[in-house]
Amino acid sequence: MATQTYDAIVIGSGITGGWAAKELTEKGLRTLVLEAGRPIDPDQDYVEHVPAWEKKFRGLGDRRKGMEEQLVQRECYACDEWASKFFVNDRENPYSTDTNKPFLWIRGRQVGGRSIMWGRQSYRWSDLDFEANLRDGIAVDWPIRSQDIARWYDYVEEFIGVSGQAEGLPQLPDGKFLPPMQMTCAEMVVKDAIDKYFPGERRMTIGRTAILTQRHNGRAACHYCGPCHRGCSTRSYFSSLNATLPVAQATGKMTLRPFSVVHSIIFDPKARRAAGVRAIDGQSKQALEFRSRLVFLCASALESTRILLNSSTAEFPNGLGNGSGELGHNLMDHCMGGGATGRMPGNQDRMEAGRRPNGIYLPRFRNVRDKHAGFTRGYGYQGGGYRENWQRGIEMAGFGTEFKRSLRQLGPWMFDFYGFGECLPNPANYIELDPKKKDAWGIPALSIHCAFGENERALLKDMSIAAAEMLSAAGATDIQPFIEDNAPGLTIHEMGTARMGRDPKTSVLNANNQLHDVSNLFVTDGACMASSSCVNPSLTYMALTARACDYAVGLMKKGEL
Ligand SMILES: Cc1cc2nc3c(=O)[nH]c(=O)nc-3n(C[C@H](O)[C@H](O)[C@H](O)COP(=O)(O)OP(=O)(O)OC[C@H]3O[C@@H](n4cnc5c(N)ncnc54)[C@H](O)[C@@H]3O)c2cc1C
Ligand code: SF4
Repeated sequence: MATQTYDAIVIGSGITGGWAAKELTEKGLRTLVLEAGRPIDPDQDYVEHVPAWEKKFRGLGDRRKGMEEQLVQRECYACDEWASKFFVNDRENPYSTDTNKPFLWIRGRQVGGRSIMWGRQSYRWSDLDFEANLRDGIAVDWPIRSQDIARWYDYVEEFIGVSGQAEGLPQLPDGKFLPPMQMTCAEMVVKDAIDKYFPGERRMTIGRTAILTQRHNGRAACHYCGPCHRGCSTRSYFSSLNATLPVAQATGKMTLRPFSVVHSIIFDPKARRAAGVRAIDGQSKQALEFRSRLVFLCASALESTRILLNSSTAEFPNGLGNGSGELGHNLMDHCMGGGATGRMPGNQDRMEAGRRPNGIYLPRFRNVRDKHAGFTRGYGYQGGGYRENWQRGIEMAGFGTEFKRSLRQLGPWMFDFYGFGECLPNPANYIELDPKKKDAWGIPALSIHCAFGENERALLKDMSIAAAEMLSAAGATDIQPFIEDNAPGLTIHEMGTARMGRDPKTSVLNANNQLHDVSNLFVTDGACMASSSCVNPSLTYMALTARACDYAVGLMKKGEL
């Protein structure tokens, strides 16, 4: 077991690990990136242009393999016949849940992590979010406010490229946007109706997305081919593979080691520091050890906390850095799936241009100015207006030539509103090590205890009613409100379990994502979140990661770390 020493170790190479690798190497640190999964070669592995008829199962997927190896992952829309290779094997990566409390843990294990399949929706937090816990007397107050992170949002957006429209809304701060994508004509009709009937309260905008609408930082503009979760040969959307890791590589300071499954952190009790990490070679299953001055945990929210839980010492019998007893608690995921669908009359002579990889966004409007009687916090909608195509035939009666001919015509314009609601931090939603289960590398697996509560259910109900109300105002017909019963996890915005806070007695991390108890150990993925807002979270993880790298290297330079 040879031991190698670096300035910094980054665990994970997904959205946050890629950012840590870029920042630390650009600041001159010799950085080892340990990634559990395999390397990805975009020229071979990206398959967004492969048509269904070239796939063995014609795009319908290998159901037997799915049942055997991806029983959880196949619940995610993006785990299709093309992209299922980017999702984990559930048998090799097991976890347990309580009976009747499912949690769908959707994961990617490869260089690039889930940045390859993510939906790229990118929104900033406002102080409505950072002050929420304090205002509502729930959990702990965030130790930061939007002014602490605003310049890091600028920094991240300028690098990754986010297209969007500035709206001047206090609850959804504007960013450094590339030109926005265009709305479809059905979306313009709905937008106009919302402006007319809900003035000053609701505003619909085009989705803010980490996709290039013009050439940017050496990457090409998007050509609207559509299925981004299968990769992007022109590198037009942000992923760590497309953007951050190549920059880190170019510094000559990064060593990227795939097939390196981190088991735990090595803690030096005398120095009270992380001395390095223990890992297992993913292929040979040999034990490995690496040393460094600095460790960044970026393995994704639950995996990072699992590593800390597996790093118990005599001083920290319940997980490294768990002096507060909070490690593992307050697991959150957005509650999604309240909304409505409707048919938009008119515009029969128009159609969409290309396959725009984006939709609309309608930012939170509940509990922004007035207090809603039925629930706390709020939700935003994603969705969009589109023309139905031949796939409507699945639900239509008919057969034969006439039926096929009718499906060659474009269908009516439809519009969907699909809500994403804030999940409250709740100590009863938590993770711990399963006493019996281990993964394929012999590392103790997680036991996840999580369920949505009354507030999340009330949000889902209101999402559905308010969506139908707006479609009605826009003149839609056949309006169908819906409320889906989605298990937590399926929104794939899992976060919390190692929260930030001011007080070491009630939080795991300080305002700079540094463990209160272990000064050279940082957790910058979703584990750090003290509340969840209702917007997609990854832009905030990226900004927090870049900020924490700057802080850590600053301390190192001053000789304080
Ligand atoms: C289909 C889909 C759509 C999504 N849409 C959006 C969206 O529109 N907007 C948004 O904000 N978010 C979205 N997300 C969520 C987003 O992908 C995650 O928030 C983000 O990837 C988290 O970044 P991360 O670095 O924490 O984790 P990941 O990107 O998952 O990367 C973690 C990496 O750590 C590695 N790792 C794990 N354990 C270990 C270990 N023990 N040792 C070594 N390495 C390890 C993994 O292999 C992985 O490569 C979506 C996700 C999916 C799957
Ligand atoms: S739609 Fe655009 S971002 Fe998505 S894969 Fe195609 S070119 Fe890339």
